[in-house]
Amino acid sequence: MILLNPKQLDRTYPDERSRAIMRATVEFFEAKGKRQLKADDRDRVWYADFLEFQQREQAFATLLTPAGYGGDNADCRWDTWRNCEFNEILAFYGLHYWYTWQVSILGLGPIWMSQNEAAKQRAAQLLRDGAVFAFGLSERAHGADIYSTEMTLTPQSDGTYRANGEKYYIGNGNVAEMVSTFGKMAETGDYMFFVANFHHQNYELVGNVVNSQSYVADFVLRDYPITEADILARGSAAWDTALNTVNVGKYNLGWASIGICTHAFYEALNHAANRRLYGMYVTDFPHVKQMFTEAYARLVAMKLFALRAADYMRSASPDDRRYLLYNPTVKMKVTTQGEEVINLLWDVIAAKGFERDTYFEMAARDIRALPKLEGTVHVNIALIVKFMPNYFFNPADYAPVPQRSDAANDDFLFDQGPARGLGQIRFHDYRLAYDDWDLPNVNVFQEQVAVFQESLMAATPDEAQQRDTDFLLALGELFTLVVYGQLVLENARIYQVDEALVDQIFDFMVRDFNKFALQLYGKPSSTPVQMDYYQRLIHKPAVDEARYQHVWNEHVYALKGAYEMSE
Ligand SMILES: Cc1cc2nc3c(=O)[nH]c(=O)nc-3n(C[C@H](O)[C@H](O)[C@H](O)COP(=O)(O)OP(=O)(O)OC[C@H]3O[C@@H](n4cnc5c(N)ncnc54)[C@H](O)[C@@H]3O)c2cc1C
Repeated sequence: MILLNPKQLDRTYPDERSRAIMRATVEFFEAKGKRQLKADDRDRVWYADFLEFQQREQAFATLLTPAGYGGDNADCRWDTWRNCEFNEILAFYGLHYWYTWQVSILGLGPIWMSQNEAAKQRAAQLLRDGAVFAFGLSERAHGADIYSTEMTLTPQSDGTYRANGEKYYIGNGNVAEMVSTFGKMAETGDYMFFVANFHHQNYELVGNVVNSQSYVADFVLRDYPITEADILARGSAAWDTALNTVNVGKYNLGWASIGICTHAFYEALNHAANRRLYGMYVTDFPHVKQMFTEAYARLVAMKLFALRAADYMRSASPDDRRYLLYNPTVKMKVTTQGEEVINLLWDVIAAKGFERDTYFEMAARDIRALPKLEGTVHVNIALIVKFMPNYFFNPADYAPVPQRSDAANDDFLFDQGPARGLGQIRFHDYRLAYDDWDLPNVNVFQEQVAVFQESLMAATPDEAQQRDTDFLLALGELFTLVVYGQLVLENARIYQVDEALVDQIFDFMVRDFNKFALQLYGKPSSTPVQMDYYQRLIHKPAVDEARYQHVWNEHVYALKGAYEMSE
């Protein structure tokens, strides 16, 4: 069973406590029930019940306190294996529950990365008290351009500082006693990370920017006093802290998409499989079967990729920073695949997807958020293409990375070092994963990739094209697909995924490759030689009716009635 089924939690854990947290979290939501879940969403009720639950269960404290800071709680560790499932469960029940956890992760990043021991001890205590945290990076006027940050720290004669400036779009900014805030020194322009407290009278909470259960704050610091005790990092360390925190945080957005799509999938399938039209069930329509099979294959690939990326993240070191390619791929690819899954399901269930009592109605709204937040799809593709030359043309030997479900504390995530040097990162040969399979659609895909690689050498994008982000984004989509397929295949072996399902996944991978090849073909600057190559990228997937029927019957339709949320 690859997809999460809260009524059948079967993930393996090396300890009982991790399993107990997952179970208790599911029980909290199932006891709350769908009716109340939806009522709270409609009325935009602040999720105090969930925060009380997590405090009682010590969920955030156990999952978000690194080993060594947990006091009596020996189960505290930062363990991406279990945090993945917690992410998934929260989003399965609602993006807002996930969001308060996610921005706590972001807020804690600069704290756990800091040398400020007192701040760390304070955060650990606050976690035990059930607190949530906030990450004050964004500013209203500057969006992705954090170089232009205007929050300013001005030194005072007594060695303290005064902070002045506004932060915008800051989740939990209404309740966090430690808001990790990014700013600059007044005279030198040096970057700074410091902590502000929403209780302080010089912290003005202007309001909630969004219309939802979450509180996404606009806040202003007016002559807010800062002492050494509040400083988390300075200069290049503060800059690296910002990027390294986002490196960790952005990964979770993929899990939010996976959780949302999984719940929506069960709901849509249950509806369609029980609805009769023209004397037959909706799931008997060939196009409906196709859409469900496609949605399922895409969702399984999303999960296989995100799980595999976690293995690399947990095994990362200063000499192995491959996660810096895989994490943005989770961020931009898994989340945009989530939109496709919801689109497919919604086309099937049509009017039902608007009904106020469905989970789906929330899913259709919330799935849109994940590609756009914490760096847009564009920002992440622009990052990903930097890795392309080394990925294709300069592979390195690495010891194979196993599945990482062990109870380790992920130390390296809080000690990632300088954020620069991306162009030097090398990857293991992607062909190893592809050569390990001999399936019709994997083979077709491999042929496409070979032509793509040849095109990069024989019809290399010229300097103007390399500066043209519109062209580069289309190229980046093709590259991303190769990376995506590689980790999906690696993990399909680890999880012993049915070959028919793997081939079905590569059916859509081939078609997606075609789609992006055609986009690149049509770009204003593509040359005749490039156009010839891009045309040659287009292949038809291998058709196999028996395989398709097997996937539909054994994997997709078999989930009818597998899960329904308690009323
Ligand atoms: C609900 C919500 C919650 C949020 N929570 C937080 C939070 O807790 N803490 C926090 O600090 N922030 C938070 N944010 C801010 C969020 O991370 C930013 O909104 C997001 O990173 C995108 O910035 P922007 O929307 O301002 O887009 P802009 O930066 O204004 O971008 C405009 C366009 O330019 C493109 N673009 C910009 N730069 C590049 C580039 N380098 N390469 C290619 N294309 C580029 C973008 O893709 C986009 O299409 C939140 C936002 C929302 C809506």
